[in-house]
Amino acid sequence: MTCPASDIRSTARSASAIGSTLAEVFGYAEFRPHQAEIIEHVIAGRDAFVLMPTGGGKSLCYQIPALHRPGVAVVVSPLIALMKDQVDALRANGVAAAVLNSSLSAEESAVVLRDLRAGALDLIYVAPERLVLDGFLGELARVELALFAIDEAHCVSQWGHDFRPEYVRLSVLRERFPDVPMIALTATADEQTRVDVVRQLGLDGARVFVTGFDRPNIHYAAAYKGKPAAQLAEFLRERRGESGIVYALSRKRVEQVAQRLRAEGFAAEAYHAGMDAADRSRVQEDFLGDRIDIVVATVAFGMGIDKPDVRFVVHYDMPKSVEGYYQETGRAGRDGMPAHAFMLWSMQDVVTARGFIDAIEGEEQRRIEAAKLAAMVAYAEALSCRRGALLGYFGEEVEGACGGCDVCDSPPVTYDATVDAQKALSAVYRLGERFGVAYVVDVLRGAATERILASGHDQLSVYGVGGEYSRDEWTSIIRQLVHRGYLRVDVAEYSTLKLPGTARAVLRGEEQVTLARPPAPRPKAAAGRSRREGARAARTLETPEQEELFERLRELRREIAAEQSVPAYVVFADAALADMARRAPRTREEFLAVSGVGAAKLERYGDAFLAAIAGE
Ligand code: ADP
Ligand code: ZN
Repeated sequence: MTCPASDIRSTARSASAIGSTLAEVFGYAEFRPHQAEIIEHVIAGRDAFVLMPTGGGKSLCYQIPALHRPGVAVVVSPLIALMKDQVDALRANGVAAAVLNSSLSAEESAVVLRDLRAGALDLIYVAPERLVLDGFLGELARVELALFAIDEAHCVSQWGHDFRPEYVRLSVLRERFPDVPMIALTATADEQTRVDVVRQLGLDGARVFVTGFDRPNIHYAAAYKGKPAAQLAEFLRERRGESGIVYALSRKRVEQVAQRLRAEGFAAEAYHAGMDAADRSRVQEDFLGDRIDIVVATVAFGMGIDKPDVRFVVHYDMPKSVEGYYQETGRAGRDGMPAHAFMLWSMQDVVTARGFIDAIEGEEQRRIEAAKLAAMVAYAEALSCRRGALLGYFGEEVEGACGGCDVCDSPPVTYDATVDAQKALSAVYRLGERFGVAYVVDVLRGAATERILASGHDQLSVYGVGGEYSRDEWTSIIRQLVHRGYLRVDVAEYSTLKLPGTARAVLRGEEQVTLARPPAPRPKAAAGRSRREGARAARTLETPEQEELFERLRELRREIAAEQSVPAYVVFADAALADMARRAPRTREEFLAVSGVGAAKLERYGDAFLAAIAGE
């Protein structure tokens, strides 16, 4: 077999050379924003700090320099499962890559070390704890080094959310190998973390490359939980056969939702920390191999998942912070194809989260967590562009409407809700601030429940003043009043509604209140789209023939992946299959023109896929 990777090393290191590597080895026609710049910077032997959103294409930023610089590139990555998948993907492209970590047997490690010493490797992926061992550093000192790449570099900082003690010792690299260029990469880093990473790794002179946090191919939507099971089912119905993750907060809920989805005929499995390791890794592998479509999981699932064709991420419960939400939804659409983030949330979610925060000991910490929760609620409640609310949290501005979120799809109608607010606040007042939302709504609507009649609340002046609205509509109005600060939910006291000082001005008619018209109960992302259109849009295919071919190619990919025990995307990403379905290549040349097909994949899979396309 030809090995394009080693040919490349002997060719000129010019800008057009990195373009040829992109095309011949990786099968892509164009660089993503910043990639070419970063690659050339590193090839020139300089340090770089790269902050790029998930799916931005960080890997190529060190993989291409690894092929263009003499010697072996050492890649540090925190997760063993990820390393293996990355190396499998590189090998499928004909690149000489290997992994060295605790999952290998002694014999396997010996082979890798032999290849390393012989200069036969372009890239070696190493776990941080292995890298800093004296013995291994000694090995590295004896071979030519192309570069060091530190993936998930935020793990080095205590400020970050994934601090890993073994990353701290990576500072030794700069001391021992001052002349080897280093590139640190991460998808999440606030300013403090960024400064810390640069200091810890000794990257003071490094050029910083920051690509924005926006993920333009992800559509964002959120809906208030009415009937969550039905809302989820409706969202999923038009996405049958697509890969996705559904996050829920508790193990119990994860189990329930997974079971319900299976009952509805979805290939779904549960994943949470309470399952044993073997079951968890089976679920993970089945997901990567496209044998199951949906994983219902607690947040424990995801760090080890590097599946580029995840088409949707659903939050069945509201997450605790925008950072967490951004990271979790970031697992959708890494391949750049259209993807969906859909969140369900309820006032109960907010109340529960607030309960946890109130139980935190330190006052400072409590304040921080409360601020994070408030930002999350603001996102959920957003009445203007939701992407703007999300990116605003990271200090990025979105100008005007993004056109890729539910709010932009159908902007909410606001109205003067002063009278409604007065009714609700008076009811809370007349009821002595001793009741929760459901009861207040019943009184407003004039419900003749036993409890209301027994307490004589049907005699109150506010009884039945809100008969024009449904229960859901009143709940929405009260919820909005809570979030605007005109009402407060007392978690410590059975979630009863209280009147804060701000309520007085409204009750006296001194302050006007504008609210959104209560939302329709169905998820907006799904509005007006048939399942077929939805699926087609997700893959940008144009005709039923193309769709049919896409499905056949997917089936072939599934078989090949199972046969070779690699994740399906290692064979071809969704984006490549879609392009293949669109072009329907007949010859090897035409096949090579498909995005994601390089020389190695043409050799390895060309015949099988060409045969499938020809209908053989
Ligand atoms: P990150 O590490 O930044 O999350 P990856 O490096 O895994 O992202 O890249 C995400 C996906 O995008 C992968 O499937 C990768 O092959 C693909 N990709 C990267 N660069 C390009 C490009 N220039 N053109 C097309 N696809 C690309
Ligand atoms: Zn928008």
